[in-house]
Amino acid sequence: TPLLRQLGPALHELDKGFRADMRVPARIVADDELLRRMAEDRSILQLVNVTTLPGIQGFAIGMPDMHEGYGFPVGGVAGTLLPDGVISPGGIGFDINCGVRLLATGLRHLEVSGDLPALAHDLARSIPTGFGRHGRLALKPAELDHVLADGVPYVMGVLGLGTREDLAHIEAGGHLPAADAARVSTRARERGHDQLGTLGGGNHFIEIQRVEHIHDAEAAAAFGLFEGQLTVLIHTGSRGLGHQVCTDAVRKMDQALAREGIRLVDRQLACAPFSSPEGQDYYAAMCAAANFAWSNRQVLTHRVREVFGRRLGERTETWARVVYDVAHNIAKVETYGGQKLCVHRKGATRAFGPGEPELPTAYARVGQPVFIPGSMGTASFVLTGQGGSRDISFASACHGAGRQLSRAAAKRQVVGAELRKALNARGIIVECPSNAELAEEAPEAYKDVDRVVDAVETAGIARKVARLVPLAVLKG
Ligand code: 5GP
Ligand code: MN
Ligand code: MN
Repeated sequence: TPLLRQLGPALHELDKGFRADMRVPARIVADDELLRRMAEDRSILQLVNVTTLPGIQGFAIGMPDMHEGYGFPVGGVAGTLLPDGVISPGGIGFDINCGVRLLATGLRHLEVSGDLPALAHDLARSIPTGFGRHGRLALKPAELDHVLADGVPYVMGVLGLGTREDLAHIEAGGHLPAADAARVSTRARERGHDQLGTLGGGNHFIEIQRVEHIHDAEAAAAFGLFEGQLTVLIHTGSRGLGHQVCTDAVRKMDQALAREGIRLVDRQLACAPFSSPEGQDYYAAMCAAANFAWSNRQVLTHRVREVFGRRLGERTETWARVVYDVAHNIAKVETYGGQKLCVHRKGATRAFGPGEPELPTAYARVGQPVFIPGSMGTASFVLTGQGGSRDISFASACHGAGRQLSRAAAKRQVVGAELRKALNARGIIVECPSNAELAEEAPEAYKDVDRVVDAVETAGIARKVARLVPLAVLKG
């Protein structure tokens, strides 16, 4: 349609004229093939719905991994003007601060290929997985308060799990100061108090990988990556605690809509002005859940280090350094064109270009590391944010390959036991208790990660640095 215009080689705009209630246009980062695929689910419609939110600025933008989600599409980004633009829990997602952390060892994968089965098995024994599973750290209420309020600095400083070096390589230093533990409900605390250091189920994973190819030597050197290197990718979030924070807020905001005079096209877009009591409660609780999620990935990092030290000896080479840790389900207050916005990233990764003050010194010249997991049977990528990303996408990139089959469809099409065999035959170790869960996470369930990453690169958002391939995967 003439309402869908091509703005660039991988950037499309759906004009405001498409629907009368749109406040801003919708943009989509994708090539034609990805765009065609997106049209098969409700995600483009959901992105259009997002453009109707009070206070939205510029455009709502979908990433090339976009697919249907709760209210907002997964892979959707929207900035609302503070103080009175809305904040919407569905624009952040139920797994608050779900995110990815990359660890890099000094090992070449060939040196340790014989140790990998034992390494993977030990990881599986040391790290609780699955939906309800609890961890070895059951926090007392006061300790949980500290995790929620202070995040990784507490986990490092008081619990002793981590180093100063780690802190410098986590988005926001692993601590959002706007967090208020008192606004996290009793139910959310109950669900979270024994889940620190647990992976969770389904899509969450710890993957041992090898760096297969370096695309950008300068950025790879800055990030400390080299071909043949053994790396570990951790993907998890705030577990039951964050889920409950989202559930609580959706309910409260739903009840406040009439008072605020907000009419929604989709109830799942429940939201409240950032400045309202509901908006402030949720933002402070969301920040607390985000601190919990960063702390969770910190504890898991500690477990990985314990296992590596135990199995391979405590040496410089076996130490798993944090390359970076970045959220892909979060709202952040950021400044664009002199205006403060609440930037919602739901299934989207912040992709700051060079020179942003928050970046670690060593990355200042090359930009922020962006991690794009593909699937347990395909590649994953390290990219680096480009200067243009601020204008193109509110400094955001995709967060994965993105689902193309629903869980149910994947289970119908894939036989878990066969998938396990096929992965094993390719030398990929699988630590996952359930074949059914494995089937839901099959490589076929996800889009083509190379294509998705090419789209963000073509659009000028982020540049490829390294391509990683799986050696062993630990799943819930
Ligand atoms: P999400 O946060 O939306 O659940 O997942 C992020 C992305 O992780 C997915 O879009 C998918 O591309 C990727 N992914 C899911 N499972 C695995 C896995 O086992 N290994 C790797 N490397 N990536 C995965
Ligand atoms: Mn998650
Ligand atoms: Mn995630």
